[in-house]
Amino acid sequence: MAGPTFTVGNATVTRIDDFDQAKLPAQGLLPDWDANWIGDHPDAVPSGTFDADEGTVPLPVHSWLIRDGVRTILVDTGAGNAKVRPYSPWFDRLDTSFLSRLAEQGVAPEDVTHVLLTHLHVDHVGWNTRLQDGVWVPTFPRARHVLVADELAYFTDFANLDERSRTSFAAQQDSVLPIVAAGLADPIAIGGLEAIPGFTFHALPGHSPHHAGILWKSGGAIALFSGDVMHHPVQVSRPEWNSRFDADPATARTSRRQALELAADTNAIVFTAHFGGTSAGRVSRDGPSFCWTTEG
Ligand SMILES: [Zn+2]
Repeated sequence: MAGPTFTVGNATVTRIDDFDQAKLPAQGLLPDWDANWIGDHPDAVPSGTFDADEGTVPLPVHSWLIRDGVRTILVDTGAGNAKVRPYSPWFDRLDTSFLSRLAEQGVAPEDVTHVLLTHLHVDHVGWNTRLQDGVWVPTFPRARHVLVADELAYFTDFANLDERSRTSFAAQQDSVLPIVAAGLADPIAIGGLEAIPGFTFHALPGHSPHHAGILWKSGGAIALFSGDVMHHPVQVSRPEWNSRFDADPATARTSRRQALELAADTNAIVFTAHFGGTSAGRVSRDGPSFCWTTEG
């Protein structure tokens, strides 16, 4: 089934699903998950984001396709097919229909003009490459791939290799470095300048060392691609609740609050990487905290 499409200014944004089978016990994703608090605040857990019978939360993986009449842009590229991920069983040797879903939208790989990457984790860079005759080749051979230079430097410096980062190191080898070798990568510094016209990367570290949110201005509308600064809508109401995937907990909390302030103050539509339901919504202030309203 085709993912939802949203209008943002003069452009459209369509969710392209990659892998939607992952789910976790709520407390397995968010160790601070408080069932009593949830019971008192059911609006903080919108429909499609919590299975109360199972006690689980979905953790879908997808990409966002932006078309503005001139450019065809993907924000993050899912987990990819055939990647060997012994330490991340969810993503090990997948065979998903991601490219067919793009084709259903009328998009061939050669049509993609830009790939923008919020960070370089396994489930965000996978479709950068595909396996052809035993070699990882760029999936989108005409696209400029914009990524944060410091993040690439971190995950290719073997001084940083440990149990937590080992899958990220593998992902650089088969999904990022082939793009660099093909001359298709534009590693940037996060510094307030537009990465490409209309799109600005904002430093939101903590989940990964140099994680970014991507703010986009289109015809008077504003969107925020929030990457993994949060994994579940309850974190809008409880920004102090980290996910177990956040590498630096204190920094992740600070960045989450900054992202929520940015989204609320700009009335941005927020496109998330892992929320169940439509995975898009808006943030408004609610006293010292925030509240999430699903869109679509
Ligand atoms: Zn992710």
